[in-house]
Amino acid sequence: MKKSYNAFEVAQAQFDKISERIGLDEATSDFLRQPMREYHLTIPIQMDDGSTKVFKGYRIQHNDARGPAKGGVRFHPHETVDTIRALSMWMTWKCSVVDIPLGGGKGGIICDPRNLTEREQERLCRGWVRQLARNMGPISDVPAPDVMTNGKHMLWMLDEFETIHGGRYPGFITGKPVGMGGSLGRTEATGFSIIFVLREALKTFNIKIDNTTASIQGFGNVAQHAAQKYSELGGKIVAISCWDNKDKKSYTFRSKNGLDFKFLKNITDSFGSIQKDRAKDAGYEILPGDVWIEQDVDIIIPAALENQINSENVHRISKQVKVIAEGANGPTTPEADEVINERNIFVIPDFLANAGGVTCSYFEQVQSNMNYYWEIEEVMSKLDTKMTSAFKAVYELSVSKNLFMRDAAYIIAINRVAQAVKNRGWV
Ligand code: NAD
Repeated sequence: MKKSYNAFEVAQAQFDKISERIGLDEATSDFLRQPMREYHLTIPIQMDDGSTKVFKGYRIQHNDARGPAKGGVRFHPHETVDTIRALSMWMTWKCSVVDIPLGGGKGGIICDPRNLTEREQERLCRGWVRQLARNMGPISDVPAPDVMTNGKHMLWMLDEFETIHGGRYPGFITGKPVGMGGSLGRTEATGFSIIFVLREALKTFNIKIDNTTASIQGFGNVAQHAAQKYSELGGKIVAISCWDNKDKKSYTFRSKNGLDFKFLKNITDSFGSIQKDRAKDAGYEILPGDVWIEQDVDIIIPAALENQINSENVHRISKQVKVIAEGANGPTTPEADEVINERNIFVIPDFLANAGGVTCSYFEQVQSNMNYYWEIEEVMSKLDTKMTSAFKAVYELSVSKNLFMRDAAYIIAINRVAQAVKNRGWV
């Protein structure tokens, strides 16, 4: 029987391990292992056919000791409150590990935007904000895009917030379209940053990135931009796996000579699904969705959803794999982590590797608040500097204390938040 994973239990297990290791006192540990605030919403939406449908939505603020809560809003038919709890917690550690003055939050609506019209999606965005407008804002909680949401949704949400509050508050939301308060580079930021830290990791092994091969799970925003930057730096992508909404299963697209990511992008829809028939015509092998993990490559990049590397498939990771660069949030379960650690595979943990998205969101907020926008070169150079220094801090701690990279990242992140909580006199 297939084991099911609860992302919040995973996030808590990861936290408990580090809390014990660094000797956090009981109250601080108890406080940080769960969210500070949760909003559970029922959102009635008028559908285009005149009927009314009720959707479930959430916003969870895990911790705001270091600054306003920050985190995306997902649209997903299988979204659960525990997934959002976990993601809000990971956001706290993510903002902390890259040392930006923000806390952790996350939101979501249980829905499938692939089956909703534009107008229905707009009403859903507005309905979500209408119920939360008093509990969010530029100085308390700032949303952003995530799985199956984008700049279009952010602008509807911003517009609703500004209509309710009667003013212009561009700092309320990030991931806005460029020209409407968005930052250049925000769309690319998460994927590019994964490759910035991968580049640093490979340097520590004296491996040239242009001598490496990779297999990627996912081909949405994060994976596409990671694939772009990795290809630009000379890396060869051998396999990409993604979801096929028509067949309701995933496929892996493979070419041992290297995939042409630009071609694949052109035949991919806005939800990150590659058109199978066109890929087949172009000569790509179409394999089962789960084989991305067992490719003989140097690097694997899970960049789809959580719990994708688990006790059932971790043993299928090829002996050749040297680095796992986690693009998705929570892609690896603690059981799988133990195996990866024993096998000495170098992990760039999710909340470090994919922190470029929130770092650029922070830059967007800064620019929105100044009402002055930077050139792309300035954004990318600031992003690279921040990511590289965060990687180096985690790597140095992991080497000096002989720690697994995930544990080193957690120690830095949790210590900073625990200190903020103590300094504020909360515990
Ligand atoms: P997206 O919706 O743009 O893309 C998701 C991709 O995953 C799609 O290509 C989809 O086909 C694929 N997918 C879904 N289920 C799959 C399966 N079972 N097997 C293989 N592929 C599957 O989402 P995104 O924005 O790229 O986010 C991906 C991950 O990165 C998520 O975990 C998200 O929380 C995380 N993340 C996103 C950002 C961001 O800036 N967008 C920032 C940090 C972390």
